[in-house]
Amino acid sequence: MKKIKKILIANRSEIALRVIQTAKEMGIKTVTLFTEEEISLPHARAGDESFCLGSGPLRETYLNQEKIIKIAKSCGADAVHPGYGFLSEKSPFAKLVTENGLIFIGPAAESIELMGDKKTSKIKIQQLGVPSIPGYHGDNQDGLHLQQEAKRIGFPILIKASAGGGGKGMRIVEYETEFLAALDSAKRESLNAFGDDTVLLEKYITSPRHIEIQVMSDSHGNHFHLFERECSIQRRYQKIVEESPSPAVSSELRAKMTEAALKITKGINYLGAGTIEFILDTNGEFYFLEMNTRLQVEHPVTEMVTGLDLVKLQILVAQGENLPFTQKEIKQTGHAIEVRLYAENPDNDFLPSIGTIQKIGSPSLRHTRLDCGYVDGNEVTISFDPMLAKLVAWADTREQAAHKLNISLNEVVFLGVKTNRHYLRRILSLPEFLEGATYTHFVKTYQEKLKPKSANNQALALALASYLFYKKEQQSNGQSIDQLNCAWSSLKGFRNI
Ligand code: ADP
Repeated sequence: MKKIKKILIANRSEIALRVIQTAKEMGIKTVTLFTEEEISLPHARAGDESFCLGSGPLRETYLNQEKIIKIAKSCGADAVHPGYGFLSEKSPFAKLVTENGLIFIGPAAESIELMGDKKTSKIKIQQLGVPSIPGYHGDNQDGLHLQQEAKRIGFPILIKASAGGGGKGMRIVEYETEFLAALDSAKRESLNAFGDDTVLLEKYITSPRHIEIQVMSDSHGNHFHLFERECSIQRRYQKIVEESPSPAVSSELRAKMTEAALKITKGINYLGAGTIEFILDTNGEFYFLEMNTRLQVEHPVTEMVTGLDLVKLQILVAQGENLPFTQKEIKQTGHAIEVRLYAENPDNDFLPSIGTIQKIGSPSLRHTRLDCGYVDGNEVTISFDPMLAKLVAWADTREQAAHKLNISLNEVVFLGVKTNRHYLRRILSLPEFLEGATYTHFVKTYQEKLKPKSANNQALALALASYLFYKKEQQSNGQSIDQLNCAWSSLKGFRNI
């Protein structure tokens, strides 16, 4: 067992801050990284030490493995936390970290490699006897052969990039006649995004839900599940609302799904935090989708219902400790819902939004949590992911959690940049959401209902624009902070529009 003393966080923004929070509590020092353009973002100053990665494309900064390892060694870090995204699921990075005598806070490189590829992971999962979606994962990538396979599986079909992620390279094909054209465009997109155009085919499950099981394993052969999260509310295959428990999962189904998840972690001798994603069909049958071998964006939802600190558990596991509980002791209490706040304009086809954040609001209700990578005055650019923050609310029941989150979204303004917060509020307010009818095509099905009530919204936009103009004027006239705060309070009066 080796106590970790200093962690280098190979990531940025809210997840870097999240890791620091736990490290501080555990008395562990942290090292953060930032690029030249991020100098005024909070993560650039939040670590005990911070290093600039320079500027340029991501491969020169957050994806530059050698540069990051060099910094870790030079500052005497003994462990690396990869966060999510970036290098978190790159097995060569995990390998490089350990080869350099550092602890990788995550699973073994072999597990990342095995589960990182949609094809190899599905083959492994089938061997373990866990159901996966009927499909074709073969090497023969000839168009006509794939078309034959698609016919065998039966339309509708989903074409997926084998190296895929983030919904890139995915195409739904309803009819055989459309297959070859869709294959062509999926391959092109996949080559562009991942440098690899290998695809696999899957039966397209109509009206599915996305249910995932959080798992945690230590190096002493103990494997646990931390219950499910439902992440069916997605836009372009990207999760935007996540919750636990799932309104679609009965205790019998939960028992079956968690058992299947643990079959996988035991079967691959997994280590640390992971997520096993499943598709649930309308008959209650579930199928393995993929495994994420890292901490998920939506981990706060699980933290809220279990009361556990997932980053702490990751660190304990990395130190070679036993996980400090039995499965029976882990309880799923109440209901938590998370939304992802993006700098984008839902009223203009979700175009990314940039600008200076004048003021960030904060949630005032109990059991709410804002994991945010920005502070007032920060610049939002298009260089990084448009996610500004995650907002989570916990309550005794799902309905109360949705209500609380709705109120909190109203409070968490990001003045100066457009965000999707009102769009998220409309989702949380839809009767279909509140009834738990949460299928993956939810936002598409209700797109008309999710549009803003235009008259009201235009009025609000106008009011906001004039307020901002007024505030700018005040600023340039050298008005005091008190006056600005007073103006800010007066804007709060608009909140209920
Ligand atoms: P990625 O790795 O690109 O995120 P996933 O395989 O995890 O892709 O799938 C992302 C989402 O796509 C799922 O949450 C689900 O909404 C949808 N999806 C994936 N596979 C299927 C399928 N076979 N049938 C229906 N929907 C699917």
